[in-house]
Amino acid sequence: GDQRVDKSVDSVCPYCGVGCLLIYKVKDNKIVAVEGRDGPANQGRLCVKGRFGFDYAHHAQRLTKPLIRKAGVPKDPNSTARPGDWRAVFREATWDEALEAAAGGLKHLRDTHGKKALAGFGSAKGSNEEAYLFQKLVRTGFGSNNVDHCTRLCHASSVAALLEGVGSGAVSNPVNDVEHAAFVLVIGSNPTSNHPVAATWMKNAAARGTQIVLADPRRTDLHRHAWRSLQFKADTDVALLNAMLHVVIEEGLTDADFIARRVDNFEALRAQVQLTTPEAMSPICGITPETIREVARAYATSPASMILWGMGVSQHTHGTDNVRCLIALASITGQIGRPGTGLHPLRGQNNVQGASDAGLIPMMYPNYQRVNTPEVHDWFEAFWNTELDDQPGLTVVEILHKAKAPASDPQKIWGMYVMGENPAMSDPDLNHAREGLASLQHLVVQDLFMTETAWLADVVLPASAWPEKTGTVTNTDRMVQMGRRALDLPGEAKPDLWIIQELAKRLGLAWNYAGEESGVAAVYEEMRQAMHGVIAGVSWERLEREDSVTYPCLSAEDPGQPIVFTEHFATADGRVQLVPAGFKPAAELPDTDYPFVLITGRQLEHWHTGSMTRRSQVLDAVEPHPTVSLNGSELARLGVPAGGVVTVRSRRGTVALHARRDDGMPPGTVFIPFAYAEAAANLLTNPALDPFGKIPEFKYCAVAVSAG
Ligand code: SF4
Repeated sequence: GDQRVDKSVDSVCPYCGVGCLLIYKVKDNKIVAVEGRDGPANQGRLCVKGRFGFDYAHHAQRLTKPLIRKAGVPKDPNSTARPGDWRAVFREATWDEALEAAAGGLKHLRDTHGKKALAGFGSAKGSNEEAYLFQKLVRTGFGSNNVDHCTRLCHASSVAALLEGVGSGAVSNPVNDVEHAAFVLVIGSNPTSNHPVAATWMKNAAARGTQIVLADPRRTDLHRHAWRSLQFKADTDVALLNAMLHVVIEEGLTDADFIARRVDNFEALRAQVQLTTPEAMSPICGITPETIREVARAYATSPASMILWGMGVSQHTHGTDNVRCLIALASITGQIGRPGTGLHPLRGQNNVQGASDAGLIPMMYPNYQRVNTPEVHDWFEAFWNTELDDQPGLTVVEILHKAKAPASDPQKIWGMYVMGENPAMSDPDLNHAREGLASLQHLVVQDLFMTETAWLADVVLPASAWPEKTGTVTNTDRMVQMGRRALDLPGEAKPDLWIIQELAKRLGLAWNYAGEESGVAAVYEEMRQAMHGVIAGVSWERLEREDSVTYPCLSAEDPGQPIVFTEHFATADGRVQLVPAGFKPAAELPDTDYPFVLITGRQLEHWHTGSMTRRSQVLDAVEPHPTVSLNGSELARLGVPAGGVVTVRSRRGTVALHARRDDGMPPGTVFIPFAYAEAAANLLTNPALDPFGKIPEFKYCAVAVSAG
């Protein structure tokens, strides 16, 4: 063993959905280094977040005692963006007192205003077991399906389109299948920043001759490896993709045999794209007809073509339509169901796939079984031995909207339980969302730090960081992977799984998950039953032994299936259900008052709302300040040097931040990462929702930009 450390613990990276396996090197209950492990998704590779983003767990600002809001201290939604001393607002409490206060407040509201009065936000950063227990607590303890998490802000539209089209919301092929692809379309994704190890597979493939086509309004780093870069106009995905579909059909490049055997509704698609010629769509999307034809032909005729996409596709009021077009492209060309083909929505958070699988969504129980399907509802009533609501619950943005509803509204949300999410930073139109959180009569927040959301809580419960607990997570490739506890908890902080169970007990639920690490193995095994099939072959013991198993995995002998849809799709009739989509503009377009388009997103060094990475020394040192990226020509026009301060305003809010010159930004468009509380991008963004996925339009709103 390594003499310089006390122990080496095998676990999983807590950041992105790539799911790199790693080793925590621990000395004196502190992580001193992280090394990449030979996992199936990373083969020893790690990015800067995985390697250096661990010391947030040791940060001096960790919450180590339960806190209760002092009597009479008002909840000021505008104070959330300012760091301050929590002692002015909260007092320390014992666990017993805090749990009684947390559960007592929720129970009182449930008993006074009915079962729909409460809601819960779980976390895509927690384990599968935490996600499973959290949704079970809301459904069986609160009594409604008002449970959701940040998948709503991430790939909800992708999942809606995929469930409708191919019957499964997960990826068809793993990322590193790009090595078997001759052609790869990467659309609405900036993988070198957001899925860096995934990007290494793409770069390796490009070096071996794979044609990478990068389609994105921003010219990002991957363009250096791309065969073609389509810098299309923001939000015109449907126009671009329908033009490609037109070319494929008009030029006879479809796979007629595949369509006959495996695709429904082809004629409706043909009718929809009959007039969407490259010439007609070019003025909308900004790509020349010749390039559209060239790329469409290359995609359709290559021996194996794969599509990967990110939130540039999904975070629109027509995100579901965008993905419907991608499904159509793959299925009419037969580019799915084989190695190096298929559809891959790159998952953002480390466990957004697993948390969704575990049922942390308002319309579905574990494994996407709909709450309003009578047989499913009855099965879960018997399984959990309780009465359940048979109506889908509210989604993330709707819940905070309903928190501000008048008392007469039967859907009004009066109280909430938030575990490991930070809606006071991550929701669109933050002023409105923060007012919603502040207006709740009872808010329980469980987190590592005094987040912007925790500032508005009545009770704050100090929780566990990823290296402090054992549990499973599921990556973007459908790999269920084992994370192991490397550290003891600081102070009186507790494992999240323990906290959920203590609240459940106080809400009158008779749960009993015995065993080490808060009964994590027992919870996993119950979840495995609830999921009906897909992880049937993935027992806890097998995960302890193998560390990573890909589902579907139907039996103990099944090695797992990295590539699906080889024979049939997961729809009712086993065939793709094509849903044609027409081009629709964004919900808010630029005008003379707000002439720029704002795109939000992430950057390599920071993670989501910044609560972890901004407390990781190396990462914060590399990127310490909020910035807005714009083209050099725009800086010249504004008379601002790179690094100078600009103000960005929308109809909903204002932020001031440093300008960053990025000539990959199209003129007229600016980009702001959403990790910075002091210049929160989501003060600006538009809460308009996609009607199917209920995802907000983070990738497009109108703003004004001025110097100073
Ligand atoms: Fe972690 Fe993702 Fe980086 Fe891998 S690519 S080390 S999972 S952040």
